[in-house]
Amino acid sequence: MIGTVQRILRPKSVDELLSTLAELQGPRHLLAGGTDILVKAKDGKVAPGTWIDVWPLDELRGVTAHDDRIDLGANVTMTDVERSPLLRAEARALWDACYEAGAVQIRNRATLGGNVANASPAGDSIPALYSLGATVHLRSVRGERAVPIEALFTGPGKTVIAPDEAIVRLSLPRVRGAVGAFLRLGQRKAQAISKVSAAATATLGADLTVEAARVALGAVAPTVVRAPEVERLLAGRALEPGLMAEAGELAASGVTPITDVRSTKVYRREMVAVVVRRALASLVDRRRG
Ligand SMILES: Cc1cc2nc3c(=O)[nH]c(=O)nc-3n(C[C@H](O)[C@H](O)[C@H](O)COP(=O)(O)OP(=O)(O)OC[C@H]3O[C@@H](n4cnc5c(N)ncnc54)[C@H](O)[C@@H]3O)c2cc1C
Repeated sequence: MIGTVQRILRPKSVDELLSTLAELQGPRHLLAGGTDILVKAKDGKVAPGTWIDVWPLDELRGVTAHDDRIDLGANVTMTDVERSPLLRAEARALWDACYEAGAVQIRNRATLGGNVANASPAGDSIPALYSLGATVHLRSVRGERAVPIEALFTGPGKTVIAPDEAIVRLSLPRVRGAVGAFLRLGQRKAQAISKVSAAATATLGADLTVEAARVALGAVAPTVVRAPEVERLLAGRALEPGLMAEAGELAASGVTPITDVRSTKVYRREMVAVVVRRALASLVDRRRG
């Protein structure tokens, strides 16, 4: 761990962070809440280099509502999400994911920027952000670019974030009347990484007809994935129990999970059907209020 941290820098502003990233040679690691990177460093999985502490940067905090979108600073924590009535009302899948994750001590430090940049296929905010159609804003001294969340990940732990870039915020389109849900299965209720997770966000008509839906699955592929075949099945149809079960089975048949320390591929596939069906049932409950 000590060898991993050759020095720690603490920029006072985002501009200073970006010029530091532009000037640095060799491995550099942003430190936000530290709940992923410190564990990895202890396990010898972080290359020795310069650490840059972004946790104190208040510019990266805050949940801001605009007419068409909600902006979330990279340093917004899972606790911040859990305490936001706006996000509970308008980004329920993300709210559920943050409410379910870790335990309170972890949620107090776990940032959305860190969850996303860590790029784990089991990262709980990520399926929720897929279902909400989130955009990730990356900034460097070269400028800012907006990357749809689904284009951010190239493999487990891998993203398109360049060495001189930082996530500055995430933005969620505001969709009036949308309902959402996130469900996960872990070894225990708390402090366990998801074996399988599913998020769904949809707009439903008065008769529960699906006007638009996005469904995403976690921990069943090298990255979080959308389930487009499920979304097509649901489009224009009323969400009733038979359709929900069919959607679950279709989602399960479309994934190729692996067996690892947390679960087997057989169990994961079967549980995909369950979490998708239950997530859709939550949409109905929430639409009915
Ligand atoms: C006991 C325990 C339980 C956990 N439970 C869960 C759980 O239930 N669900 C879940 O999803 N996760 C869980 N985690 C993992 C972790 O808490 C989350 O992934 C968390 O959101 C990471 O955020 P962080 O701020 O701590 O990131 P850090 O550890 O500080 O950083 C993680 C990675 O992101 C990079 N990074 C951070 N900020 C930025 C930025 N602004 N721009 C670019 N890169 C950046 C860092 O360089 C690093 O590579 C758990 C961890 C522990 C230790």
